[in-house]
Amino acid sequence: MSRVALEGIVKRFGEHAAVDGVSLVAEPGQFVALLGPSGCGKSTTLRLIAALERPDEGRIQIAGQDVTHAPPAERGVAMVFQNYALFPHLTVGENIVFGLTVRRVDKAERARRLARAAELLGLQALLGRKPAQLSGGQRQRVALGRAIVAEAPVCLMDEPLSNLDAQLRQQMRGEIRELQQRLGITMIYVTHDQTEAMTMADRVVLMRAGRIEQQGAPQDLYERPASTFVAGFIGAPAMNLFPSDDARTLRGVRPEQLRLLPAGQGLPARVAAIEYLGAESLLVCEAAGTRLVVRAGADAAHPLPPRGAEVGLDWPAHALHHFDRDTGLRLS
Ligand code: ATP
Repeated sequence: MSRVALEGIVKRFGEHAAVDGVSLVAEPGQFVALLGPSGCGKSTTLRLIAALERPDEGRIQIAGQDVTHAPPAERGVAMVFQNYALFPHLTVGENIVFGLTVRRVDKAERARRLARAAELLGLQALLGRKPAQLSGGQRQRVALGRAIVAEAPVCLMDEPLSNLDAQLRQQMRGEIRELQQRLGITMIYVTHDQTEAMTMADRVVLMRAGRIEQQGAPQDLYERPASTFVAGFIGAPAMNLFPSDDARTLRGVRPEQLRLLPAGQGLPARVAAIEYLGAESLLVCEAAGTRLVVRAGADAAHPLPPRGAEVGLDWPAHALHHFDRDTGLRLS
């Protein structure tokens, strides 16, 4: 098991700093998600760890060694790419052991590792097929197989599920997490999907414009967002943000913390739209010149008010977050 540590990493492309002073640690056996919007520097950070890019500043340590200037082969990391990078003319088995063949690992050892990976991933029956004869999920598993046979203590994944449909993505989330725990590897996983990061990771690193906006356990980011950016990015639907009476601060409240009351009680509001999701519904309410989303559970005893209805809204005092209106930073 390996610890990965980045300290003050800067990577510039021309004048532009794609990664701008990033420090983070993945403890041995930890699953760390690099999360953030498109272009925030997630992939570049991962490529720096894999030695596919060189940093302009800062240090990278893996398993206690300074590998800032070490080539890929000396870092003990395996990487799974978004497009899987499978060779169409090779069989599944040949694809999985490709890296071992290149490194001249002997035949018996290759066979041993292939058998283990195929068993872990349920690919035994498919080893003779070509990638074109596989489903998206099966191709995904082949790409994972490559990382497994490398027997590297650190695994890097860049949006590995983005080509899969929603149902398969959810299934593979669980499989990757289980595999990572079973093998005890340190995982650094890039995604722009906050649900993926929240459900899979021990630690979430949320990036914005090359910098880390906040990092911590998923519940830290959800319960104590450091800024309005974090509050808006983590949680679906996002936290409601609305001005307070003193105009200097912004208040925030999560949709599940808002309570619906009869008209005449609480903050006066009108139901502008309803999104029915089965187990729950999202009510978009207009109140105090802003829009507030309310998450309401399905409860036959308390049917939801119809669109256009006048209602009241209330929230427990502890559910309120306060942010500086100018800087967006958390105040309390
Ligand atoms: P996405 O989710 O869209 O993949 P990302 O968060 O992974 O985004 P990066 O791919 O790390 O973002 O890119 C960060 C910034 O660096 C972007 O502005 C991008 O255009 C720029 N960038 C990345 N690679 C290069 C390159 N080789 N040359 C020039 N600019 C680059």
